[in-house]
Amino acid sequence: MKIGFIGLGNMGGPMAANLVKAGHAVAGFDLAAPMPEGVAKAATAAEAAQGADVVITMLPNGAILRAVADQVIPAMAAGAVFCDCSTVDVESARAAAAQAQAAGLGALDAPVSGGVGGASAGTLTFMVGGDATAFDKVKPLFDVMGQKAVHCGQAGAGQAAKICNNMILGATMIATCEAFALADKLGLDRARMFDVVSTSSGYSWSMNAYCPAPGVGPQSPADNGYRPGFAAELMLKDLRLSQQAAEAVDADTPMGELAAALYARFVEDEDGKGKDFSAMLPRFEARHRKG
Ligand code: NAD
Repeated sequence: MKIGFIGLGNMGGPMAANLVKAGHAVAGFDLAAPMPEGVAKAATAAEAAQGADVVITMLPNGAILRAVADQVIPAMAAGAVFCDCSTVDVESARAAAAQAQAAGLGALDAPVSGGVGGASAGTLTFMVGGDATAFDKVKPLFDVMGQKAVHCGQAGAGQAAKICNNMILGATMIATCEAFALADKLGLDRARMFDVVSTSSGYSWSMNAYCPAPGVGPQSPADNGYRPGFAAELMLKDLRLSQQAAEAVDADTPMGELAAALYARFVEDEDGKGKDFSAMLPRFEARHRKG
């Protein structure tokens, strides 16, 4: 296929490189990032989109997505698909999809999980919103860049799935970390705590697959000085998107709200920026209930 790829940063770069390796013709545009090998550098976003069967965007936020959609959609050929893989607010995802559909294009929101490692290895999971025809057309590309693509529903459903998943993840990571800190103060050995919880009803991905305690459970960023991994500021971004969405649809999400507030403090007022999101454990370890 002929593909336009806009936003070739930490995630988009390796995703575009995998499409090239699979034999697709990729034209790329980025304001700053270098082109991966085999990606033809376009002078503008619109130029990258011209004549493409599918245009993929991998951008920092919804405002930038909307600006890029304004440039790209008028340049796209009728019947082509605009596929945004960024993590953005549901409203921006729906606005970009509506704009693409009004121009006679297919549209998908297809945020990912799996991080930079998954982008490089081609093992991302895509959560996809949009119509089935567009999904079927882009599915072979999802299969190159990832190991799983779930069609979640209409426009915005992919972003909805992503932020709901990450709201659960943020809250369970905090709960797991504060439980370890409590266990420490109760004199409970961390390895025993892991042994019990990972096979009891307190288990979760945060405990079992990404244990925040160094030297306990499988290898995780905790064993690497809490270098990300999944950075605390990216968790904060996703938690804020979940709260923005909850506000928009009047959903009561007190745990998500508290998780967003805790990560905001950690990243903005404490020393969490640049650390893995599981570094909540040393944060709780150093704190006390009173003062
Ligand atoms: P990044 O900052 O490394 O890449 C974004 C790229 O977009 C940059 O290279 C930037 O120059 C480019 N860009 C910005 N404005 C542009 C414009 N107007 N036109 C063209 N290019 C423009 O970010 P990333 O880590 O690759 O993340 C991209 C998206 O994927 C984000 O929405 C992020 O939330 C999501 N995501 C990231 C991860 C992760 O672990 N990094 C995991 C899952 C999802």
